[in-house]
Amino acid sequence: MNAPVASRDLKPVEADVFTHPEFRGHEQVVHGFDAASGLRTIIAVHDTRLGPALGGCRMWAYANGAEALTDALRLSRGMTYKNALAGLDLGGGKAVIIADARKDKSPALLAAFGRQVGRLGGTYITAEDVGISAADMEIVARETDHVRGTRATGLGDPSPYTALGVFVGIRASLRHRFGSDSLEGRTVCVQGLGHVGMDLARQLRAAGARLIVADLHQPALEQAASDLGASVVAPDRAHAVEADVFAPCALGAGLNDATIPEIRAAIVAGAANNQLAEERHGEMLRARGILHAPDYAINAGGVISIALAAPGGDDRLVREKVEAIGGTLLRIYERAAERGLPTQNVADRIAEERLAAA
Ligand code: NAD
Repeated sequence: MNAPVASRDLKPVEADVFTHPEFRGHEQVVHGFDAASGLRTIIAVHDTRLGPALGGCRMWAYANGAEALTDALRLSRGMTYKNALAGLDLGGGKAVIIADARKDKSPALLAAFGRQVGRLGGTYITAEDVGISAADMEIVARETDHVRGTRATGLGDPSPYTALGVFVGIRASLRHRFGSDSLEGRTVCVQGLGHVGMDLARQLRAAGARLIVADLHQPALEQAASDLGASVVAPDRAHAVEADVFAPCALGAGLNDATIPEIRAAIVAGAANNQLAEERHGEMLRARGILHAPDYAINAGGVISIALAAPGGDDRLVREKVEAIGGTLLRIYERAAERGLPTQNVADRIAEERLAAA
């Protein structure tokens, strides 16, 4: 028998999905291989009680298949919670492709991935994620209908909807903490002025907020300073500035043992994924009296736009659902206050209740 064609050498690692530490009753985990293009993909369908499993496809140069499996299991479960809490009739899934997006990506590989998605018959719906662009998804869509976020099915870049959701979420957080959702005279520190952060900063400024911003990218800082009158802080001090709201919109794991004791904002509410370095950091924030908007609740605008976009660009339904993020957060905050629990745990509980009722 021929040895499988590999685009890169993978170290052999023993892996059994059922005893894997990230296995949480996933309904289906499919390993897909295509010799001609070198495709190695793992598609994890975590939960379809609410509907087909929607979640992006990530292309990453994982060191081995076990690392890829860990990511697929963890991220697909995250999508179940995110979609459930956002009120979407969709389950959670995720695909990973073991490849270096700069070197290994090819139309043949993307087409082979599309065929793998097609074989699942609609149980899993794919979309873009790290390492995969909208143009890549157009190639995938030639092989299967179970794709979102393409020109034919979507509204394009989800970031403006993510930014809108975070803006709405910040207002809800202000209402809970201060009794008014007005941004007039409030100070917000936005860490990361990328696709989401810059759009959010514009909305905050237009609503009357004073801005403090941080980024590694000098032109973005100059733009925020000149267009929005923002003052600038060093990226590694953004969490510690005196502000009403700290909005992390860069990378994950920014809320940790080192940063939490230094936070001076009353509210942490931003777009970044996986903000808590570890689950226990949710309790650390609560104990310090800092109101934290659970990341997957406040940053759901993007997935809502991908899920509900209608051909033709009518985004009324999308906006309605994104605006509802405010109400969801208020519900989380009220229950967290009543029960003395971290907001992230309450968000999980509410998502689990919806799943159990499905
Ligand atoms: P992006 O790559 O466009 O922007 C990230 C920005 O953060 C860049 O400008 C980068 O220079 C800056 N940055 C990186 N490290 C930094 C640091 N240490 N300090 C300050 N700035 C730093 O990404 P994006 O699409 O705007 O997404 C931002 C975050 O929101 C990510 O965590 C992403 O996973 C999450 N998110 C995005 C969406 C979306 O629709 N784009 C949806 C959900 C969640």
